[in-house]
Amino acid sequence: MRCLLVSDIHGNLAAFDAVLRDAGQFDVIWCLGDMVGYGPDPNECVTRLREYPHVCLAGNHDWAVLGKLDIHTFNSDARAANQWTQSVITTAVQAYLQSLTPQRVERGYTLVHGSPRQPVWEYILDPLTAELNFPLITTRVCLVGHTHVPVCFYMPEDNDDHLCEPRSPRYDQPISLTSGRWIINPGSVGQPRDGNPNAAYAILDPEVATLEHRRAEYPIEVTQQKMRAAKLPRRLIERLAIGH
Ligand code: ZN
Repeated sequence: MRCLLVSDIHGNLAAFDAVLRDAGQFDVIWCLGDMVGYGPDPNECVTRLREYPHVCLAGNHDWAVLGKLDIHTFNSDARAANQWTQSVITTAVQAYLQSLTPQRVERGYTLVHGSPRQPVWEYILDPLTAELNFPLITTRVCLVGHTHVPVCFYMPEDNDDHLCEPRSPRYDQPISLTSGRWIINPGSVGQPRDGNPNAAYAILDPEVATLEHRRAEYPIEVTQQKMRAAKLPRRLIERLAIGH
């Protein structure tokens, strides 16, 4: 089984479409949340996702658009983009987002937007935060989004010290997940923040337990042009070009 693993699409249809083309054949999409917020195509991205067999989580931006969390916890650019998204989102997309949860288990894999401790809010950016979350994970592998940074945190078997290892993604080379325990972030499709502007995603075979991080170039200027037309914050437009 070939599973397209995506997260943090954030209303960036040009990036999402590039990933769909780059991924080749797949059986299902697993999306780790934040379909909307920041980007100019929130309705179109949700519609596109729903054209495929898929599983999707809710992220903090999805909840903010629905009024399920306080938008004042966002920085001013994120808040402005979220308010714009609220003004354009259709009732059908709203109802769809309303149906999502921030965490679930799928085919023996834990899927969560932020972290098992705080499914919507916590950022797993460092080994210590990963270590604190491993005890809450009942499966061998936990797939997370939210940070917009692709990474693996690997915990070897029989590790009494509970020290986990951060591993940078090795692009286009499948890694085996059959030993040890893992927290893996595929990175962000629509707003990468690791200094690489290409859309980030991964291909997972949940049965064989292999995962491959990947990047896809996309026409960034197409998204930027739409963002300018929508009068979205300049900083959000510019950051797409530098991937940060
Ligand atoms: Zn996000």
